Amino acid sequence: MAPRRKPRLAVWKFASCDGCQLSLLDLEDELLAIAGAVELANFPEASRAILKGPYDLSLVEGSITTPHDAERIHEVRRVSKVLVTIGACANAGGIQALRNFADVKEWVPLVYANPAVIDTLRTSTPIANHVKVDYELNGCPVDKHQLLAVATAFLQGRRPWLPSVSVCATCKRRGIPCVSVARGIPCLGPVVRAGCGALCPAYGRGCYGCFGPLRGANVAALRQAWRALGATDAQLVRALRAYTASAEAFRKESERHEPVHGS
Ligand code: SF4
Ligand code: SF4
Repeated sequence: MAPRRKPRLAVWKFASCDGCQLSLLDLEDELLAIAGAVELANFPEASRAILKGPYDLSLVEGSITTPHDAERIHEVRRVSKVLVTIGACANAGGIQALRNFADVKEWVPLVYANPAVIDTLRTSTPIANHVKVDYELNGCPVDKHQLLAVATAFLQGRRPWLPSVSVCATCKRRGIPCVSVARGIPCLGPVVRAGCGALCPAYGRGCYGCFGPLRGANVAALRQAWRALGATDAQLVRALRAYTASAEAFRKESERHEPVHGS
């Protein structure tokens, strides 16, 4: 009997900083086990060997910001059996989605020495706006343990389990004192997905939302809680407009309270 073919793994980069791919490399020992169970068919950050598709599992990092990438993502989808987006850029447009609230044409000459060669879209958009996505793994960068959980679930042929509660639930579970209650620090934790282990509150600072809004997040209610702590709408808008500014719940609430300057 012919030996069973190992599943083919591909990792794709769009507009991003590579941090989520580095989280995958940061798995170290576990990565060796994964590398033994799959064929690393397309992962330029780890290997120069590129094998042709189709691929059983594609991990996609980054957002769509150029006409070329808007076409390329359809090709990636076409050659991928399961497509998982990793990180705030892929799932919510990333920090580069701040352009969505401004005129990108005004920014390009401020950033690039030779703006004439820049071919960019007006917006930075998540992968799901362009093609079907099977799973979304959040964070900026993604949590390496969640990444491992998704890879393992895929290899075992089952759906991955990802938490559907807020960062606050993790604080409670870990016994981390609430920075808002104990120290009066505004925190986005009540409306943000768990998955990071409540990293920021564990170090005494408020969550700034890198895992993106929880499904059904009531950001309007959070605004009242922030106001009770003395935070202005301008501070709330700045907090919502960070790594996941273009996620719908954050975008809508931030647009309600523009302009950012003043209070
Ligand atoms: S510190 Fe933030 S995330 Fe933790 S319980 Fe308080 S409000 Fe929630
Ligand atoms: S606490 Fe919030 S900002 Fe900090 S790592 Fe977790 S989700 Fe990201």
